[in-house]
Amino acid sequence: MKKYLLIISALISMEVCGQTLVYENQFARPLGTVLNEIQARFQVRLKYDIDTVGKKLPYADFRIRPYSVEESLTNVLSPFDYKFVKQGKDLYKLKSYEYPRRTDEDGVKMLAYLKTLYPDKEKWEQRKSCLREEVRLQLGIDALLKQTVNTKPILSKVRKFSGYTVYNFALETLPGLYVCGSVYAPRTRGKHALIICPNGHFGGGRYREDQQLRMATLARMGAVCVDYDLFGWGESALQVGASAHHSSAAHVIQAMNGIKILDYMLSSRNDIDANRVGVNGGSGGGTQTILLSVLDNRYTAAAPVVSLSSHFDGGCPCESGMPVTLACGGTNNAELAATFAPRPMLVVSDGKDWTSSVPVLEYPYLQYVYGFYEAKDRVSNVHLSKEGHDFGINKRTAVYDFFISVFALDKSQLDESKVTIEQEKALLSFGAKGEKLPQTAIRSFAGLAGYFPKGRYQGVISDAGLEKKAQDWTASLHLQDEKKEAFVSTLIFNHLRKVRDWHNEHPYTTVPAGINPLTGKVLSKLDREVIADSSMPQEVHARLMDGLRRALNEEQVEQVLDKYTVGKVAFTLKGYHAIVPDLTVEEEHVILANLKQAREQAIDYKNMKQISAIFEIYKTKCEQYLNSNGRNWHQLYKDYANKIKAEKAAKKSASKK
Ligand code: ZN
Repeated sequence: MKKYLLIISALISMEVCGQTLVYENQFARPLGTVLNEIQARFQVRLKYDIDTVGKKLPYADFRIRPYSVEESLTNVLSPFDYKFVKQGKDLYKLKSYEYPRRTDEDGVKMLAYLKTLYPDKEKWEQRKSCLREEVRLQLGIDALLKQTVNTKPILSKVRKFSGYTVYNFALETLPGLYVCGSVYAPRTRGKHALIICPNGHFGGGRYREDQQLRMATLARMGAVCVDYDLFGWGESALQVGASAHHSSAAHVIQAMNGIKILDYMLSSRNDIDANRVGVNGGSGGGTQTILLSVLDNRYTAAAPVVSLSSHFDGGCPCESGMPVTLACGGTNNAELAATFAPRPMLVVSDGKDWTSSVPVLEYPYLQYVYGFYEAKDRVSNVHLSKEGHDFGINKRTAVYDFFISVFALDKSQLDESKVTIEQEKALLSFGAKGEKLPQTAIRSFAGLAGYFPKGRYQGVISDAGLEKKAQDWTASLHLQDEKKEAFVSTLIFNHLRKVRDWHNEHPYTTVPAGINPLTGKVLSKLDREVIADSSMPQEVHARLMDGLRRALNEEQVEQVLDKYTVGKVAFTLKGYHAIVPDLTVEEEHVILANLKQAREQAIDYKNMKQISAIFEIYKTKCEQYLNSNGRNWHQLYKDYANKIKAEKAAKKSASKK
């Protein structure tokens, strides 16, 4: 009875509250406003990498802690899965939750927890088997390997340099999909070590200078070294587009490439010593180094550089796109690296990225696991505390010293000045414009979709479609300037993607049903779609237009806008000329200005129906203008329609005769 009364009294008070319910109920206020107030109250600056539009924060003011900006930010951001990163004194960047990135403290707790799972070697061996098995499952590697082919690779001529040679290869992995790379080999006879070198995201990809220096120097000292493009980078972009790299497919395909290249190298060359097979890469290449060492038992030494961490899995989909760190109840790259024990491993870390914790956190942990095998001395750490995230000379030297030591390379040949840096085009298999890409090659990401579970990559395929659109529109400008072309194409692609994503994330149902004040009619689905999409942040539009105006002349900018709106400005103007045969120059000027405004507004809408709806608004304006200019639009239009009708009838009767 008491409970019943409580419910009744609650209902009554809600009734009494009436209109103030929205505020009183949850004390909700717009997130953007609350964040602005935090900036003012605490005298801090907030950098936005998040979307606050339309977001309401319940219990807003109750979340503020007057004594702590950081506690306040945590309380205000967490309901939206946003977080902040301190970027300087009084400067905070607001970001979305990042599942692959945690904190150093998290790494400390996680490694301490993991150690409790294996107090001895036996327990560790059990854990290792579990990790080896479940990483494969989480990555989906075996399903993909089953579909691979073993065709003869396309090889370039061998180029000879001081103490080493280089040739390029294009190896077919899945039917029609190639991985391209280069083999740097010693010019000495006899058995050689082999080092597989997965790449990271350093600008210039595998063609960059420090990459060539490392590959060639290791080759000069006696190791056959192989590098290869990231998925969607270099020549892989010819096949699947650059946007494909931002899909989880990159994670598993790059791992597959590493395995297939090792297969190929071991089966095609008789100068490889299978007891000396290494893997080495920096940054994202370091993440792949660890992954390959887990997937492939053939490696006898590994050297991840500026990568290994217990609290960061790697932020790119090629590193964390597939949930490998969910294996066996939760793991991280430090534990995955530990599965390599007791084989020799070098970890290179630096003071300015997520590897700064290695000497005090990940390295002692690795020693703990290596200790099960009485092999603590086989895992080493070169920590460059004053350096940052790169593959500079000190990191390369650490790698050289490691492989000299574990693979007995010839240190007397260690001399980077003897290396010839080749131009990018020399390292290509398919030619500068991809003209040598085989006829049977896959030419879009969609061509790969069949090798994966159904529907998984719909978003990526959509991205690839937008990327192609952006490239085609840019190509139609005939810019004759590769850098500018890439800039404009990326600018358009990013804009198209933002428009699509905004549209998909803000469906018409986010706009309440209501009456259109202009027509007095109930808002249609299209009306509500247009309203929902019109709330996209203005920066998205401004970024495109500013970029276009910086790179292009006004005529070219207009050409791009016409592509977005399929030439509606010219088409509609032609219509006005037909309906108003004696249209004056002044009238045309006003109409054209209106249509151009429509065009610039319409580019921020997702589909043709919406784009037409935007043009309709401006067409109404044009017609009102014509009426105010002494014309009778209604009559003009009626006359025009009748004229067309008469012409059609005349044609019909003419054809009958
Ligand atoms: Zn990547």
